[in-house]
Amino acid sequence: MNSELRELYQQVILDHNKNPKNFGKIENHNHSSEGFNPLCGDHIHLYLHTDGDIITDISFEGGGCAISKSSASMMTAFVKGKTLAEANHLFERFHEMVTGTGSDDDAYEDLDKLAVLQGVKEFPVRVKCASLAWHTLVAALKNSPESISTE
Ligand code: ZN
Repeated sequence: MNSELRELYQQVILDHNKNPKNFGKIENHNHSSEGFNPLCGDHIHLYLHTDGDIITDISFEGGGCAISKSSASMMTAFVKGKTLAEANHLFERFHEMVTGTGSDDDAYEDLDKLAVLQGVKEFPVRVKCASLAWHTLVAALKNSPESISTE
């Protein structure tokens, strides 16, 4: 990755950290879940409203490092309006990207801006920061009553 691109990526992460999308609590949520990443101290609470098969609204509270917060911000913006099946597929794609288990020449263009987080695959602790919001999303969609931990 050239340094210009790296700077652009860092800027996207910093912008989402400073002005997160969908931050707060939606009152009429019908799914919620809490996620922790004890290695870094990240903690998020996710709220969702689904109508049939569609995620009609989603928000989060909490925070931690810039990676976890910007990832939560981008994730909520990206899955809003998507179906549950699409959200699960995106989770798999995102997980593949940040863990580096996908194909090397995959540009993850389907993940749009979320692709800025692919640099975390070189840093195992950061992988947990970046994927916390997604693990919490999957738990919320299953209506899991317990909070989840990346550990
Ligand atoms: Zn973190």
